[in-house]
Amino acid sequence: MALNVRVEEVHVVWMTAGLSCDGDSVSITAAMQPSIEDVLMGAIPGLPKVQLHNPVLAYEVGDSFLSWWYKAERGEIDPFVLVVEGSIPNEKIKKEGYWAALGNDPITDQPITTCEWIDRLAPKAWAVVAIGTCATYGGIHAMQGNPTGAMGLPDYLGWNWRSSAGLPIVCVPGCPVQPDNFMETLLYLLYQAAGLAPMIPLDEALRPTWLFGHTVHDGCDRGSSYEQGEFATEYGSPKCLVKLGCWGPVVQCNVPKRGWMAGIGGCPNVGGICIGCTMPGFPDKFMPFMDEPPGAKISSNAISVYGSVIRKLRKLTNTTLDKEPSWRHTRPELTTGYQP
Ligand code: SF4
Ligand code: SF4
Ligand code: SF4
Repeated sequence: MALNVRVEEVHVVWMTAGLSCDGDSVSITAAMQPSIEDVLMGAIPGLPKVQLHNPVLAYEVGDSFLSWWYKAERGEIDPFVLVVEGSIPNEKIKKEGYWAALGNDPITDQPITTCEWIDRLAPKAWAVVAIGTCATYGGIHAMQGNPTGAMGLPDYLGWNWRSSAGLPIVCVPGCPVQPDNFMETLLYLLYQAAGLAPMIPLDEALRPTWLFGHTVHDGCDRGSSYEQGEFATEYGSPKCLVKLGCWGPVVQCNVPKRGWMAGIGGCPNVGGICIGCTMPGFPDKFMPFMDEPPGAKISSNAISVYGSVIRKLRKLTNTTLDKEPSWRHTRPELTTGYQP
């Protein structure tokens, strides 16, 4: 299907059959901008009708549920967006068995592996979206030395892969995904399918640029503590968490700004260190968790000196500003400087 052709109905075929905890499917039930209900019930102007086929959220089970997968494979539900959740264990390079599957082949009665489904459906999909860090970059299952050959979707299909409509793989990382980040991306793609939006802008890691263009640190409630050299040395402190292992200054994620649900939460805002879960290098490059990041020692020591001076000067100014001007009083003389 060509780009920007108006369509009346789009199917979303959602696989959680990778190495997945289903956490991303659960996460999106908390989305509000837009909510999954608003998208499915047609509450958003201009959107095509949307049919969702997600094993965690479906009423259908068994063969009836799987029939949508076969219809997608036969090209009977065109266009459809393929959403992949979970890391992809790759039997082609780890042949000891099969690692993840969905349904049984009706002829051989053998399980149909996750890789097999991706091979069958990705070439037919209008767009392919990887949800969560497992599906985008491999995540925890793809750590060095893992036994399954697990990897993210761009590693499996290729970073330059294009869908039948010419779209790159769209990656919305996070463990789990921030619910509104995913629903906003899906909404964008549905508008694009309806011919109402240009090509989705993605960064080099295939993330939507408007969602992942800033660091955790840029949006953190504790940023002023950092700037004034105030660092927590134990949990429970409202100060900056960098010495407890926060990687926020070098991690692209909007969670502290956006919150988790209804604008509330956001890892470091509420006392949790950022462990870089949206990043392609997660988790290997961020371990051991809870140790001060290597570069943080230099920057935090430098800022401690600058910050303590700035803090004292600001306290002085703050004390002055926190008092009323001296010319406001009940004495008989006029002291405002105004002379009639
Ligand atoms: Fe679960 Fe996190 Fe993997 Fe999503 S990215 S499937 S939430 S472990
Ligand atoms: Fe930056 Fe982390 Fe400190 Fe927040 S807690 S200001 S993200 S280093
Ligand atoms: Fe992950 Fe850090 Fe974003 Fe929290 S703030 S979701 S740990 S990248």
